[in-house]
Amino acid sequence: MTRLPLTVSLSTIALILACAAGAAAAEELCVCRYCQGAAQLGPEPGATTDARHYAPDRVIDVLNIKINVTPDFETHTIAGETTLTFKPISRPVDEVILDAVDLRVTSVTASQEIKDWVNDGEHLTILFAAPLKLDREAEVVVKYTAEPDKGLYFRTAKDGYPAGDTHLWTQGEPHEARHWFPNFDYPNEKSTSEVICHVPSEMTVLSNGSLVSTDEADGQKTVHWKQDLPHASYLICLAAGKFAELTDQAGDIPLGFYTQPSLAEHAKNSFADTAKIMEFYQQEIGVPYPWAKYYQVTGRDFIAGGMENTTLTVLTERTIYSDETENLRSSRNLDAHEMAHQWFGDYVTCEDWANLWLNEGFATFYTHLYDAHKLGRDEMLYRLYNDATRAILTKDKDTRPIVYRGYKAAWDQFDFRAYPKGAWVLHMLRSQLGKDLYRQAIKNYLEKHAFTSVTTPDLMAELEDVSGRSLDRFFDQWVYHGGFPVLKVSYKWLPKEGLAKVSVKQTQEVNNDVLLFHLPTKLRFAVDGKNIDHAITVDQKEQDFYVPLPGKPSIVRFDPELTVLAKVEFDKPQEMLEEQLKNEQDVVGRLLAVAALKKKKDAKSLEALKTALNSDPFYGVRLAAADALSDRESDEAYEALAASLNQEDARVRKEVIESIGKFYRAEALEQLSKVVSEEKNPDIAASAVRSLSAYTDPAALDAIRGAMGKESFQNVLAEAAIAAAARTADPTLTPAVMRTLSARRQDFTDRGMAESLQALGKLAKDTEHAPAARKVIVGYLNDPSSKVQTGAVEALGELGDRRSIAALRTYSSREDRLGRAAKQAIEKIEKDAPSAPKEVSELRKLVRELGEQQEKMADQLKELKGKNDADAATGDDEKKEPEK
Ligand SMILES: [Zn+2]
Repeated sequence: MTRLPLTVSLSTIALILACAAGAAAAEELCVCRYCQGAAQLGPEPGATTDARHYAPDRVIDVLNIKINVTPDFETHTIAGETTLTFKPISRPVDEVILDAVDLRVTSVTASQEIKDWVNDGEHLTILFAAPLKLDREAEVVVKYTAEPDKGLYFRTAKDGYPAGDTHLWTQGEPHEARHWFPNFDYPNEKSTSEVICHVPSEMTVLSNGSLVSTDEADGQKTVHWKQDLPHASYLICLAAGKFAELTDQAGDIPLGFYTQPSLAEHAKNSFADTAKIMEFYQQEIGVPYPWAKYYQVTGRDFIAGGMENTTLTVLTERTIYSDETENLRSSRNLDAHEMAHQWFGDYVTCEDWANLWLNEGFATFYTHLYDAHKLGRDEMLYRLYNDATRAILTKDKDTRPIVYRGYKAAWDQFDFRAYPKGAWVLHMLRSQLGKDLYRQAIKNYLEKHAFTSVTTPDLMAELEDVSGRSLDRFFDQWVYHGGFPVLKVSYKWLPKEGLAKVSVKQTQEVNNDVLLFHLPTKLRFAVDGKNIDHAITVDQKEQDFYVPLPGKPSIVRFDPELTVLAKVEFDKPQEMLEEQLKNEQDVVGRLLAVAALKKKKDAKSLEALKTALNSDPFYGVRLAAADALSDRESDEAYEALAASLNQEDARVRKEVIESIGKFYRAEALEQLSKVVSEEKNPDIAASAVRSLSAYTDPAALDAIRGAMGKESFQNVLAEAAIAAAARTADPTLTPAVMRTLSARRQDFTDRGMAESLQALGKLAKDTEHAPAARKVIVGYLNDPSSKVQTGAVEALGELGDRRSIAALRTYSSREDRLGRAAKQAIEKIEKDAPSAPKEVSELRKLVRELGEQQEKMADQLKELKGKNDADAATGDDEKKEPEK
């Protein structure tokens, strides 16, 4: 899976932002589950806090799963009939236990006589009259109905979605398939599958594999799909409903992109790279695409960024973006991530969640490889650098290994260890073995284990086989132990001997969880414009390396190709950093130089950063330079940024504007206001609005107020303006926020509306507007969208008015997310109450009212005095009463 859009530039995709925390991130969606809040995912069935997890035993081999399903879009229920064909594996069996959660089973029949069956709401146990023979295929047919709260998700007008977008999607990973069909729901079992679905004629049905038939009669349609190569049951997918379609072709592989009709206008953007990615992967991986077709379908409020069901990936609808966002948003990485899973995850599948990195590490790494192919090696290095510095090396307290069996719930495994760290492990292997040997080993691994489940030793064996190397130590330190090396590097030139001395210390705490690392890498010295490389192996706590050189080097680099995942502290003299920043061949060196210069405050480093901001060939370095300049409070730094406002690359432009926003000066306010009113890119204008929240000047408040009324893609500008209003805590903005929320519901996404209601709650708390705000928020408690309802409930919690408790109690007994939110909101209100007793808020109100009255009286006095003066001047004394 992919994490949700992590970042956000997809601003909407604010969520996404959170994950990707950085400019680069802004461009991508989260993939799979990595960036997604765990709250939506349930605990693993049978999970306990101290259990170690292993793949379960298989008693039968499932050969085919045939699901015949009729969804009812009105009642959100399904009627199903699932037929499992199977064989006992090693001994005759008289009992078969299937995972089946909350299925109302009405009948179970079989090819052999059944003695009894028991459905306990978690499992369906079928007892046979006589043991099933070893080599004989058997079949059971289970009929049931269900109202699934997981596994299969309806998106209809009743839930607040446009009626023209009515659809459903399913989600299996890790253990949700059992909520809509009975099966052996673990990734160490693979079978072929069929999905037959009955819907109204105007709907489209999508599923795995090839289309077998479509039959229409009396306004109803029956569509039959068959996946005739084995795959895991968590990859079985159904998407049905009203979709707009785009098609393409990659060689002879049919490609399709399906989206909600209301989003169709922009769908082509998200489909733009698919054929090219397919072409690249087939070449890079060396194994032809294994399946019959490749379709992608967007699902409203999909629970992750994407899910790689075999031949049918489901994507969050937030991957759709408009042209005007320029390169701030892209579906490229999400597209590439999910497609890579068709090989790594679907063709070969991790045997259990402890080995999840075999799915997610590969999907993450091959996305980087596609970036290198499409945009150049610098882009890939930049991604790896960001993954390391932002997502991995920041986790110094988390020493769990990548292959880890002590997790509490399966989804604990869907974190930085499986995704970016898994990708880094592959990057290091490829760097050490070389591209060709690495590619050969991966090809062998895929072909040898095609259509089966794999563990980490399966991968290691192929890598060892082609390279002749022992990789036990590599896997031991990187995969079976946690942490990362923390290296302190220093350099000295010994002129008499003509030697460079480089000292390396491993300073990470070495213990049972984290080893002393063995790291083959290089030192690189630039002498008279030429690079001299020297191979080294860091494998001690402290080591000195002496390298003879023809002269004093102008640049010294440790691990110049970025082949080692390590936190490296390497203090260098200023002139060396400046040299490094000029080296166009070394993007990582330039990023490191900017990071080092950021800490210095002298004029020379400012000059160097300014040059990088305006003329570095790589956008990532320009971004980092803008960020580094924003850290200084000097006029020079401000001017350097202000002079760079017209950056062509939207990503840099956005960073420059955000950097300017940190200066809190009148000129900055003027620039930000100008961007809000003139910038065409809605995401950049939204960034500027958010920055305005730090200013109390009336001009800033006016700009924020003005942005609330503007139209923009997915209403990102109004949403940003409301968030900014909440941060200003200025009650004069509250009426505009209330007006916007009352009048523009249809312009907001559900998420945007939910967050904006919460912003209103915060803004109006303990102010005279609280009663009116409460009225606006309460109006959304009955919104058709449960997300908006939840937002309204949370907003009442923020508002903190005890009078909301009664309304909240009507939801708090529910077991769902809304119920949990209501309980939390009540707790919050009750907790807040003592810190702000009614008397205090009334006193605050009184003080505010007195202030207002005083102002009014002062105005009246002034007016009166003016009139008296005028009267005195004209001699007219008739008007004694001041006019009101
Ligand atoms: Zn994934």
